[in-house]
Formats: sequence, structure tokens, C-alpha cells
Amino acid sequence: MDASKMQSPTGKTMNYARFLTAVSAARKPSPIRILTELQQRSPPSLISLAGGSPNPDTFPFLSASIQVKNGPPVTFDETSMKRALQYSASNGIPELVKWMKDLQRSLHNTPNPQTDMCVTTGSQEGLCKVFEMLVNPGDNVLLDAPTYSGTLATLQPLGCNLVNVSSDEHGMIPEALKEVLSRWCPSEVHKPDSRAPRVLYTIPNGGNPTGASMSEQRKRDVYQLARQYDMLIIEDDPYYFLQFDKPWAPTFLSMDVDGRVIRTDSFSKILSSGLRLGFVTGPKPLVDRVVLHIQASTMHTSSFTQLMVSQLLHNWGEQGFLQHIEGVIEFYRKQRDAMISSADKWLKDVAEWHAPKAGMFLWIKLKGIADTQQLIQEKALEKEVLLVPGGVFMIDSSEPCPYVRAAFSLSTPEQMDEAFRRLSLLIKEAQS
Ligand code: PLP
Repeated sequence: MDASKMQSPTGKTMNYARFLTAVSAARKPSPIRILTELQQRSPPSLISLAGGSPNPDTFPFLSASIQVKNGPPVTFDETSMKRALQYSASNGIPELVKWMKDLQRSLHNTPNPQTDMCVTTGSQEGLCKVFEMLVNPGDNVLLDAPTYSGTLATLQPLGCNLVNVSSDEHGMIPEALKEVLSRWCPSEVHKPDSRAPRVLYTIPNGGNPTGASMSEQRKRDVYQLARQYDMLIIEDDPYYFLQFDKPWAPTFLSMDVDGRVIRTDSFSKILSSGLRLGFVTGPKPLVDRVVLHIQASTMHTSSFTQLMVSQLLHNWGEQGFLQHIEGVIEFYRKQRDAMISSADKWLKDVAEWHAPKAGMFLWIKLKGIADTQQLIQEKALEKEVLLVPGGVFMIDSSEPCPYVRAAFSLSTPEQMDEAFRRLSLLIKEAQS
């Protein structure tokens, strides 16, 4: 079968060529990268004059030992340090990829056996490359706005038409998606001149900025519609590990019988945002295209960062990792509770909100305020309180928006309380 086609366990053949932009389809493996990767998999007896790698003996760093809160230190002796300072495979350091694939299997157990994964420099790099792989100027792309401003920043310059699907505190509404899709006929989506959307993007847990989380049933309904209209689903899930209530709803990836889900994961919210580690998981022909793009741009995510985290994860094991996650969840749950209790105390009469079940954001609608942009930009600093005006998360940021986003990640409960006291004064002044 042609490399851009794949047969799923249900017997359905996915033709990925249909989804690729001309730029992505034209990507070819870098011959030098192939040789470098071949060399790194070969026995030490191989004498290679082929690679263009620099000699790490000339590098100034020798070794390192990084103390870890709950586990043995992560150490680099002279040999492992040389590896950490050297070029590495574009899809990721093999032992990190394997560890993550095992974790994905135990968490999501995707029914599609032809799923692959690569490491990216944060999930933002993965998202950006996925969109550039799939979105042409003029394409209709579905998403539930308000949405992550980093996604809008990636999609808007591609010249596509962003089509909003209504959502509420439980995320994208399947009936609204059905309504939007009714503009097209499922039997005509494969016609060359069809403008039917081929890509749907959503943040299924602890949405940024809304804090919304989707139920299993909503995901199943959305997946069925994606099947009916032969669309890909981009599941951007950096807040997956910050879900406060168990059991966690199954992911789109876990439902993906056809091979139409591309999932982006991130270590930013649970291990470090500065280390820049993310993962793209999805059908192999599409992950391969993302890797070709990485070959031509960053070449790979930092070897040092990957080896550092890989060693941590191997020291911890899956149990240790999940134990760490429990601690992180506990922290954010308490922060969420503190923010909600301060909101109840100060904002009840002047604003509305829904307590998020995941993530780190509270999405607040200010009563009697048509647009928060001016309020925040001109008046909030005077009152010494800062929030993000909701407009930046909208498809058209010039439309008035009565919402603000408050993060409960960094401030103490006392600071959140004082911030909401100041916000309530600000709203009252603006209302009068
Ligand atoms: N997706 C969403 C919804 C986010 O909120 C963020 C960061 O805030 C990202 C992706 C990017 O995260 P990173 O690149 O740090 O993994």
C-alpha cells in the first residue's frame, strides 16, 4: 500500500495524502540526518567518516548531577554528557520515545496499531508543525473558540477560515458541530472542489482559557461526526495530567479506530515548561511528515533535555511518574478551590464563572461590561491587578468580549483573594 495510505483495524483505509498541504507532501528525508541516525544505531566498531557531527571532546561541559526532590539525582558522567551535547535523532531520543509510548499505551491504549510518536520542543512546536502540514489557505478549519491564543497565532497566518463551533463549560457541543457540518454533504467531502473541513481542533481538558473539559459522550459524538465527514481531530491536551477528578474521561486517541486523531502532549505543566518537551502521537504517515519538518527546522529537541527527563522517568518508573502527577494535581486542586472561594466572596454580584475540573484557568464573565480590553489595559494596572482580556482568545479579537482569564497557578491564596477584591472594585466602578 502507498505510504500515505493506511488500513485501520476496522478495515477502513485512510488516505492521508488528501490531508497534506503541498509543502508537507514535498518534504523529503535529509540524507545527512539519515546517516547520522544510522551511525547512532550502529556498533562502536563502525568507523564513520560520514557524519558532520562536531567532536564533543572540544566542548566545555564535562559532567553534571541534578538533584531531584523525590528520587535519585539525574547524573551525566563524561560519556553520557558527550551524548547529551551531541546531535540526536529527529523523532527523539529512543529511550524517551519508548518510555512515552509505553505510557501512552497504558493510558490511552489506542485501537489503531499503526500509531507512532515523536518528541517536539514543547507541544507548541508539534501543534505548529501539524497545522502547517494540514492547513491550506482558504481551508475551513473547525475549532471551539474561545481557544488558546498560541493556536490562533499559528492558524491565522495560514490564511484559513476559522469556523467556530459553539461550546460551553463541557467543551465543544456535538449538536453545534452537527449543525455547522450540515452545510456540507458527507458524500461530497472527497470531491476535489469540496470546501468541507478536513481538520477539527479542540482542547479536551481544562481548556485554555475556558477551563472546560469534555465528557466521554461528547468526545464519542464528535468522533462519530469526524468519521462521517472524514475529518482529522487534533487533540491538544497539555492539561490532561491536571484533571482534578477521577476517573479521567477517555481521550480521543483511545477511541481512534480509524487513525484520524493527532494528539499533542506536553511536559510543560507537570515537569518543566522551560525544558520544552512535548509529544505528537498519531497515524504513522502523519507523524513521519512532522518529523521531516523537524529535520528541516530544529533538527531535534535538545538532546540534553531529553536525556535528563528520560533518566528521571526511568528512575521513577510509571508508578513514580503517576505519583508525582498526583502531587501536582493536589497542588492545583487546592489553588482552584482557593480561587473559587475568593470568587464567591468578592465577585458573586458582579461576575459569573464555572469551576474548572482541570487545568489552571478560571474564565470569568463580567456583568454589565461589554468589552474587557479597555478595562484591563487602562484601569486594571491603576488598581494593581492584572488579568487577560478575553478578546485575545477569540477568532476575531476586535469583537467586544465581556470575559477575562484568571490563572490560579502562580499566586498564593492570599494574593488571589486580594486580586479579586481589587477586581470587584474595578468592575463596580466601570458599571457605575
Ligand atoms: N496548547 C495549549 C492549550 C496551551 O495552553 C499551551 C500552553 O500554554 C500549549 C499548547 C503549549 O504548551 P507547550 O509548548 O509549553 O507544551
